[in-house]
Amino acid sequence: MTQPIIAISAGSLNKFSKITNHNFAQFAPKELKEAVIAAGGIPIILPFPEKSEQASELAKRAVGLFDGLIFPGGPDIDPTFYHEVTTAETGHTNVAQDTYEIILAQKAKKAGKQIFGICRGMQLINVAFGGNLYQDLETQKVGEKLLQHQQSLPVEFPSHDVDFVKTSEFYKIFGEKAQVNSRHHQGLKDVASGFTVVAQAGDGVIEAIESTDGLAAAVQWHPENMWHTDKKQLALFEKFVEKAAHQS
Ligand code: MN
Repeated sequence: MTQPIIAISAGSLNKFSKITNHNFAQFAPKELKEAVIAAGGIPIILPFPEKSEQASELAKRAVGLFDGLIFPGGPDIDPTFYHEVTTAETGHTNVAQDTYEIILAQKAKKAGKQIFGICRGMQLINVAFGGNLYQDLETQKVGEKLLQHQQSLPVEFPSHDVDFVKTSEFYKIFGEKAQVNSRHHQGLKDVASGFTVVAQAGDGVIEAIESTDGLAAAVQWHPENMWHTDKKQLALFEKFVEKAAHQS
């Protein structure tokens, strides 16, 4: 098997640094990069342009550079991308990143590339294909006694269960249930057409989706922080890298 190239869509630092070139530097999470390598992929980091008018052309060319694409965790998505007014609870956003990643997700899927989303990445995929979000679970997902989705435990520890749908790809790895970590205040509301919910927490919060064409899968938790100790979380990356290798 040729080792597939796995692009990690870059986040952007947003804290001031005395080191000029660290200001708004683009990055990928270290443990995610290591997970891709452990799973047999070759990671590359794909930065977004600050000028949104450059997004489409760059994304078009970038799609040819990789076999698989990961959208990691990160800031909240600007609610204008799912046609909502921003509520007080939505946190830091980055419109340049949203613009590029939405176009990149659409072009990558159209090109038949494997896509994996983590946390914000799952929300991004959902919005890119026409779904929407709860801007804040605590204040908007009323009528449910919510579990703790912003865990106080360190992220390598699980904090709530998720239940998997029997027909899903996830079920083949995890079986009926898994214990996962949780550090999100937003969540999926209406799921994009062409996608199905394949895991939920006990309070109904959507924790994983898959596309019906087999190209995209995403989770609300952070497997990149758990794979060192939980081999099933590593298997998620292995399965993704394997699919990307066969697609290329
Ligand atoms: Mn959760």
